[in-house]
Amino acid sequence: MSTLEIRDLQVSVKLPEGELKPILHGVDLTVRSGETHAIMGPNGSGKSTLAYSVAGHPKYEITGGSVTLDGADVLEMSVDERARAGLFLAMQYPVEVPGVSVANFLRTAKTAIDGTAPKLRTWAGELRGSMERLQMDPAFAQRNVNEGFSGGEKKRHEIVQLELLKPKVAILDETDSGLDVDALRVVSQGVNRVRESGDTGLLLITHYTRILRYIKPDHVHVFVAGRIVEEGGPELADKLEDEGYERYVAGAGSAR
Ligand code: ADP
Ligand code: MG
Ligand code: MG
Repeated sequence: MSTLEIRDLQVSVKLPEGELKPILHGVDLTVRSGETHAIMGPNGSGKSTLAYSVAGHPKYEITGGSVTLDGADVLEMSVDERARAGLFLAMQYPVEVPGVSVANFLRTAKTAIDGTAPKLRTWAGELRGSMERLQMDPAFAQRNVNEGFSGGEKKRHEIVQLELLKPKVAILDETDSGLDVDALRVVSQGVNRVRESGDTGLLLITHYTRILRYIKPDHVHVFVAGRIVEEGGPELADKLEDEGYERYVAGAGSAR
């Protein structure tokens, strides 16, 4: 069992002029392997900032609080060390990796995380199986990472990584954005397979409630203006679908 623990996390974005703009104002969140959490909030509330901060993106400065994975200080780790420690961060805008095929990228990542290269035959079978389940053309494995990927291909590639790398905790930022209904269903089924393995803790970050029709979170956290303002079970997502964020946004405004 693994635990990602975020305590009183305060983060500022570094502006080009060198100024700091505070975005996260004390976030507390605990995600254990086998649990599925959803963070839901309006655009601009700081959801991606939370994901990037845990990922170690240099644009964000941690000004307070802590992030630990099984007690180890994540904020002290390099980006590579975070991945080797078992954190998986699928970014909202994944970067291109020039000249590296999907197959090589995945095998290199797996080798880095496990410390040894996976056996070629088993590995090839696993990759093929995962791609089949996500209804991907086998030729996709030979394409360069993220080069000209459609929105749906990027998300499917994320889920293949999840299935093969078997992280302890995965943060998926806006996995539902840019997907048509069929792709959303296939991608959600992939997330549910990872979830049912019970080995991975999932943190789904989303603006919309639609992905939560396919993936039922154990815990829902409403995120507004850089903090969690309400927590509950899956019924909270249904309430948000009906009522939107207005109520919370008004509350956050008057509290400033
Ligand atoms: P979300 O993912 O919830 O839509 P973000 O984390 O992307 O929110 O952004 C949170 C806030 O931080 C927004 O108000 C956004 O304008 C601000 N922000 C993020 N990056 C920058 C930047 N480089 N310069 C100025 N403001 C930024
Ligand atoms: Mg909590
Ligand atoms: Mg975002």
